[in-house]
Amino acid sequence: MSVQQQDLIIAGRRQAACSGAVFDVLAPEDERLMAQVARADSADVDLAVAAARKGYSAWSALAPKEREAALLRAADLVATQGEARLLDTLIDESGSAITKARFEISYTVDLLRTAAGEARRLYGDTFPNDNPQRLSMVFREPMGVVAIISPYNAPLSLLTKMTAFPLAAGNSVVIKPSEETPLTALALGEILVEAGIPAAAINVVTGFGADCGAPLTAHADIDCIALTGSTATGTVVGAQSMQRMRRCQLELGGKSALLVLRDADPVASANIAAQGIFTHAGQICMANSRILVERPIYEEFIAALKQAAEAIHLGDLRDERTQYGPLINRAAVTKVMGHIEQAVTEGATVLTGAEIERGLVIRPTVLLEPDRSSAVWREESFGPVASVVAVENLDEAIAVANDSDYGLSAAVLTHNIQWGFRAARGIRSGSVHIGMHAFQSNALAPIGGVGLSGIGRSGGKYSTEEFTELKWVSVSLEDDGS
Ligand code: NAD
Repeated sequence: MSVQQQDLIIAGRRQAACSGAVFDVLAPEDERLMAQVARADSADVDLAVAAARKGYSAWSALAPKEREAALLRAADLVATQGEARLLDTLIDESGSAITKARFEISYTVDLLRTAAGEARRLYGDTFPNDNPQRLSMVFREPMGVVAIISPYNAPLSLLTKMTAFPLAAGNSVVIKPSEETPLTALALGEILVEAGIPAAAINVVTGFGADCGAPLTAHADIDCIALTGSTATGTVVGAQSMQRMRRCQLELGGKSALLVLRDADPVASANIAAQGIFTHAGQICMANSRILVERPIYEEFIAALKQAAEAIHLGDLRDERTQYGPLINRAAVTKVMGHIEQAVTEGATVLTGAEIERGLVIRPTVLLEPDRSSAVWREESFGPVASVVAVENLDEAIAVANDSDYGLSAAVLTHNIQWGFRAARGIRSGSVHIGMHAFQSNALAPIGGVGLSGIGRSGGKYSTEEFTELKWVSVSLEDDGS
């Protein structure tokens, strides 16, 4: 297979990096060289931000119905051409199984359509004034140029969510995708330009965190930062944004808990739990990597979870039966295997897995009763590893779920409505799902977390709120303005 060469997108047009530098993109499945992509640095960031500033004037001046129409055209392009233009890139670049890649494409269509609707919903407000001769109102306005920094795990749908809603609100964007998955981002950028969004409003700078992401977040002429990524990066970017008092939306890591209560069916619960942790090899921020099971069904549950994990198909990425493929790179494999080995050294039992299947593919792994201070229990492994512990009752399950620095998502499996809602109210987390696993998506939902999982929410009207400013405007009805 030939090695592609890909340039940046500045003001909608392809151009090489100012320095002429490129970097390699490897396909995780076999670590072959897929592409060489322009490696942007601060000079390219300057060009992209300057273009985006011009693009902001053009795009924000359009009527809401014109912004809506452009985003709907983008949705139609993805719906009709996504298989041809995006599917192979997604599979090869991010190591996605075909079912996951197809899900990303269809969810991208939903996100673009939902965002298109938001273009018409930039509602303001009015409020009473004690002086009857004065009117007070609130204008909702776009923020300007939004810097968007995205991760590798869902390179199409996450980036779309991060981009489409700010655009709907009238902002322009400079996108800095993960260095692992620039090709998907460039393909999306082309689709947005083709859909008729003013070219200058769409800019994609490909490169690394240190020499492309950092100058972007530090740039004097951006108005807002949206980062989806690790908590380590979020800490740096968040601190940077405060240097200039810029709004910063951070969607970061997770260590989601799944509670399996005593009335739940152990076999059905094990299947749900397996899906919630092993989808895309656990490279999902909301993956339920901590599973808390009430003692009366613990033995039956773990027997069923072992069976579910061992039944997972790890074949060719283009085989519909394949549930997941490789981790993104060798460093990720080393980290995940390190977490497993450390947990075992510290007393955890391996129920299944803990081995490499091939290349960067790790078998579905279930650890029992890891030490509650071990990395696998406390830190995000971002791999196909679930830890299971027994708990005595619901109160203990809620307490254990809350004993985490993270708070992105959680789930509870029970048929008892009171127990389900007690868990939903008691767990400190951005979302809690009853009767499902913890990895859920919905274009209208407020996705985000508490604690080290981040700040802010994205999706539907919640994104509109994040990516707009409020302005109080008042008027005197008296001629002398008193
Ligand atoms: P990462 O933090 O390594 O990288 C994310 C992005 O930040 C990349 O584009 C990277 O180049 C950039 N970056 C790195 N250092 C930077 C710096 N100093 N300044 C500016 N940009 C910088 O994350 P990743 O490994 O690509 O993605 C996996 C992580 O993302 C996991 O922690 C996962 O939980 C998280 N994630 C969170 C959500 C959510 O909705 N909360 C969704 C998906 C992924």
